Amino acid sequence: MKRIDFLKTTAMASTSLPFMQLNALGKLNKELKTTHKMPMMFVGHGTPLNAILDNNFSRKWKELGNQLETPQAILVISAHWITNKVTKVTAMKSPKTIHDFGGFPDELFQQQYPAPGAPEMSKITADILQHKTAVVEDFEWGLDHGTWAILKPMFPKADVPVYQLSVDYSQPATFHYELGKELNKLRKKGVLIIGSGNIVHNLSKLRNGIPAYDWTKEFDSIIAKYIDDRNFNGVVNFQKLGHLAKIAHPTYDHFLPLLYTLGAMDKKDEITYFNDSFDLGAISMRSLLFQ
Ligand code: ZN
Repeated sequence: MKRIDFLKTTAMASTSLPFMQLNALGKLNKELKTTHKMPMMFVGHGTPLNAILDNNFSRKWKELGNQLETPQAILVISAHWITNKVTKVTAMKSPKTIHDFGGFPDELFQQQYPAPGAPEMSKITADILQHKTAVVEDFEWGLDHGTWAILKPMFPKADVPVYQLSVDYSQPATFHYELGKELNKLRKKGVLIIGSGNIVHNLSKLRNGIPAYDWTKEFDSIIAKYIDDRNFNGVVNFQKLGHLAKIAHPTYDHFLPLLYTLGAMDKKDEITYFNDSFDLGAISMRSLLFQ
């Protein structure tokens, strides 16, 4: 989209905002330079321990951090920030590191990821999404482990501003895909978009040292086939897989971040898989790089 079109869209989307605020946003948009298109990722994050373990998953995250150009900001749509009947965007200057898990070693609770927030990008993001849904700026959340556990190995200096968008669980799957389409605009503003979840995720079935269940492999391969065929309609309608979808995702929180990235894909993007293996029997770590 040309810059002027982007500004027009922004202006149209903002009719509900007070004039002064709209003016300020216009100024903000002008100050942010338009960049070439940034890549994008869906990252299977798996167990929080991956943040501190040196394993195949975390090594790949490190490698990607070294390969990718440094973004101006990182937007994460994390499976661990679920909201009800509202979409929120973190807007604080210094988001705190949230240790939203239990039963793990102390070392994991000591981890900090002191990246700055991105309040200006939060405003722009809220504005971009305005004509699809109202977005509320949030000053309470921070960076949950869906975000920092992958960013710590990927961008260990924690010097790139990071913000999060919540997942409104009251909405149907298509809603998340549609929001993703709007987020696409951010990729030309230097923003690295990351969906963080898992293509298969059933906590109650996790076991150490077992191979993937048949249903783990089956659901993962059906979704991969849909993605290979660019049949995103199939992915969005994953619940039509019935029992298989239900056992792969007793709740859908870890699947929904994938829909944002598929929505934000450009037709010209190539998709490559990384970490496409399984963990703990019931987790697919399959991850996607769009570029
Ligand atoms: Zn998780």
